[in-house]
Order: sequence, then C-alpha cells, then structure tokens
Amino acid sequence: MDTFDLIVIGTGPAGEKAAVKAAYFGYKVAIVEKESVYGGAEVVTGTLPSKTLKETALFLSGKLEQGLYGVERGLEHEASLEDFMYRKNFITTSAAETIRENLLRHKVTLFQGAASFIDPHTIQVSSPEDTTTIQGKYILIATGSYPHHPSSIPFDGQRIHDSDTILELKRFPSSLCIVGAGVIGCEYATIFATMGTKVYLVNDKEHILPFVDHEITRELVVQMQSANIEILFNQSIQKVTPAVSDQTFIAVILNSGQLLEVDMFLFAAGRSGNVKQLNCEKIGLKMGKREQLLVDAQYRTNIPHIFAVGDVIGFPALASTSMDQGRVAVAHIFQTQDLQHLPTHFPYGIYTIPEVSMVGITEEEALQKNIAFCVGRARYQEMPRGKILGAKAGFLKLIVSKENLQVLGVHVIGHIATELIHYGVLLVEEKKTLYDIIGQVFNFPTLHELYKYASYDGLSNHTGHKIKP
Ligand SMILES: Cc1cc2nc3c(=O)[nH]c(=O)nc-3n(C[C@H](O)[C@H](O)[C@H](O)COP(=O)(O)OP(=O)(O)OC[C@H]3O[C@@H](n4cnc5c(N)ncnc54)[C@H](O)[C@@H]3O)c2cc1C
Repeated sequence: MDTFDLIVIGTGPAGEKAAVKAAYFGYKVAIVEKESVYGGAEVVTGTLPSKTLKETALFLSGKLEQGLYGVERGLEHEASLEDFMYRKNFITTSAAETIRENLLRHKVTLFQGAASFIDPHTIQVSSPEDTTTIQGKYILIATGSYPHHPSSIPFDGQRIHDSDTILELKRFPSSLCIVGAGVIGCEYATIFATMGTKVYLVNDKEHILPFVDHEITRELVVQMQSANIEILFNQSIQKVTPAVSDQTFIAVILNSGQLLEVDMFLFAAGRSGNVKQLNCEKIGLKMGKREQLLVDAQYRTNIPHIFAVGDVIGFPALASTSMDQGRVAVAHIFQTQDLQHLPTHFPYGIYTIPEVSMVGITEEEALQKNIAFCVGRARYQEMPRGKILGAKAGFLKLIVSKENLQVLGVHVIGHIATELIHYGVLLVEEKKTLYDIIGQVFNFPTLHELYKYASYDGLSNHTGHKIKP
C-alpha cells in the first residue's frame, strides 16, 4: 500500500493550495478527487463560472458602454445561449487544467475517485474502474459543500435549478424566480437581468445581503430595481409547482398568497458540508450543523492528525479564505512557521452588477458597538476616471473612528469595487488614519482617488467645516 506524509481530499481551492504547499516543503503528498474536472466549486460550479458569466453579460449587453461614445457598437446577431456559455466553458476547462498542471509540477500524486475512511490513517479511493487503498500520516479534508435542497422544492435541473444546475442551462429563461438574496442569489439576479430576463428575487428578510452596510445595499436595491429585478422583501416560498409542459409556467406561491408564474426557478439559499462519501462516523469525526466538520484555530479536527479546511468547515466559505486555510493548516501540520492564521480583516467581494465590496465594520455594527465614528464618502461620477468611464452611480464610504481618525471599515459599490477594496484592507488591517490616505499620491486619473476624496469628506464631517453639501 502507498503511504504519504499527507493525503488531501478534494482539489478545490483549499485542497489544491494545501497540497502544493506541503509538496513545496518537500513532503510526500497525495491528492484525491472524485470528479474528472479539477477545481471544485471554484472552477466547476461556483466562483469562476459565475464571474465569467457576469463579464459575459456585461459584454454581450453592452450595458456599461451604452450611450457613452456617441456611436453604438451593434452586435452582429442577438446573443444566443451558446454565446453566453462559451467563455464560461473556456475558463472552466483552462482553470481545471492549470490546477492539474500545478499539482503535477509540485510532484503531488493524483488519485481519481471518491475517498472514504477505512480507519483514521487509511483512505479507500473508489472509481468505476478500480479501488485503491492509501495511507497517510496526516489527512486534510477539503471536500467543499453542496447546495441545500429543501424537500418542498421539486428540483429537476431543467427549469427548477440549484446553483450547480443553473450553469447547465439549455436555453435562456424569459423570467426567473430566485429564492435567497444572499451573495449567489443577488449575483445571478443581476447577471440574468442584464441579459434581459425578468427576475423576481424572493428574500425572507427586510434587507438583501444583511451583513453588508445598509447604505450600500440600499443603493444596490435601487440599481437592481432599475434593471428590471423585482425584489420581494419579507417573503418566503410556500409552494412550487412544476410546469406541465414546455409552453406553460412554473407556479410559485409566496407566503403572502402572491402567485408568480415564471419560466425558471433558482433556489440559492444555503449550503451543507460535503462529507457524505467520507465515512466520517466510522472513525468518529465530529460534525456540527449542516454536516460541517468541527475544527480548532489550527483547522485540526477532534482526531489530532486529521485537519479540515474550506467550505466543509462552514463560514466564511469563500474561495479566497479557503486557499489560505489550506496553507495555514499545512503550516501547523509540518511546522513551516510561515503562516499561523488568517488575518483578522479580509475582504468580501460580491460580483453583482454593480459590484460591492467591503472590509471591516459597517455603520450598523459601529452603532451597535457604541463606537464614536464619522463617515466619509466619495462618488464615482465626481472622479475624473469615473466620468471617463461614464459612471452614473456608485460610491466609496469610509467608517472612521472619531477618537483618532483611524479607518475601521471600507465599503464600495460600483465598477471594479472588488479590486478597489484591497487598499482598504491594508488601511483597516494596519490601522491607518485619514491623514495617512491624504498623504499618499495616487495615479491620476484613477478610481483609487475615491479614497482620497472620501478622506477629505470624512475630515470635513469630523470638523464640521464643510464646503460641499
Ligand atoms: C455560485 C457560487 C459563486 C461563488 N463565488 C465566489 C466568489 O466570487 N469568491 C469567492 O471567494 N468564493 C466564491 N464562492 C465560494 C467558493 O466557490 C467556495 O468557497 C470554494 O470553492 C470552497 O473551496 P473548497 O476547496 O473548500 O471546496 P470545493 O471548491 O467545493 O472543492 C471540493 C472538492 O472536493 C471534491 N470531493 C468532495 N468529496 C470528495 C470525496 N469523498 N473524495 C474525493 N473528492 C471529493 C469535490 O469534487 C471538489 O472538487 C462561490 C460559490 C458558489 C456556489
């Protein structure tokens, strides 16, 4: 039987980065993947496909350029579903291959098949072709998550979808009811609306994306509504009845009694840990709610040589944090002394149209914690680069301590917000003040100037010496 220093289960972002790091440090590493395409939700069913569809929707619709240049760039033909999916398929294929090559370059041994525990050190890898058994001194579980399926929703993968099957559409929906105004629901709502689909977004709360600063989500709601997205607040689903034929609609009844007749349905609320095939019970691995594995601050499970990272341990369930959890776990397993934990502050990126991104505290949290704060804002359309880009909305907001003018939170809605946030991450993590921002020189014209003008606004709000209303 082959033996390894480390066996990693799953080639998603958490597993891949952990495996290559351990191999880089000279350890003998195996990785097991049950799917033929590598990369997990990052590559196949989540991050990269949905981000590519967002860029495709912007390109095919011409939404950002419309009316800007005095001439319209006509499409040679109306965009088809094949046009819509073309780049997504290309990105998935090439990203999966890049991961495979990266693993091979690091001399990680690849095993194809579903992993399950025989005992705490022994893994069986089963595929339709054969069954292999391997042993590991350490084992890292990075098996990700799967979309929650309430029994009341008659999923069929044709017209009633979860976030996996929506990527396999055979035609564009004329109308789409999305349940769940979290990140995935809001992103797909704006992507499909940009492609011309009438979207209903059913949200069981009074705010969409409740963890985001409410001033930002209010702006997002305005922009979603102007893009033909109807948001149904404080509503939940009572019943979904499939269409009886291709020519008829799906009937969605809400708890208010309202009936929505739609072409397609997407359930985008909640995910559970992907542990089904692992046989965790057999070796006594402890699990919490939603089949998530319980770990300590080093990502160690209740069995000392078994670690778990990524979506399978739950929050924050992002590709970005999953990668670093994998690297941190390896640091603890092999004492590499290079990365003991994730930073306190990391960014959230929401790839809606327009994008939203944030780091640090929101205005609501500052109020709740009785922090004396002031706010500084700068608007995209007031920045020369924003004018060139034709920005009609969008802003950057700083939450600043009144006591020492330290930046406590940064919130952005608008073009490339998910890129702009990284300077904000540094400001919050390194406890920088408004004076530190004002003292920086930025390229001109750039959207980064939003930081400087939000700082001036913050200072004038702090001192009460305001020139602008
Ligand atoms: C629609 C959508 C959009 C998203 N957008 C973003 C985003 O913009 N930014 C971001 O940071 N995150 C985003 N995420 C989240 C991100 O995709 C996940 O957090 C990330 O992929 C989790 O990584 P992971 O390695 O833990 O698991 P996964 O990526 O899920 O990988 C797990 C792997 O393990 C394999 N596996 C499972 N069980 C076994 C077994 N028994 N044996 C062998 N192999 C097994 C699976 O086949 C899979 O390849 C998005 C998710 C979705 C669904």
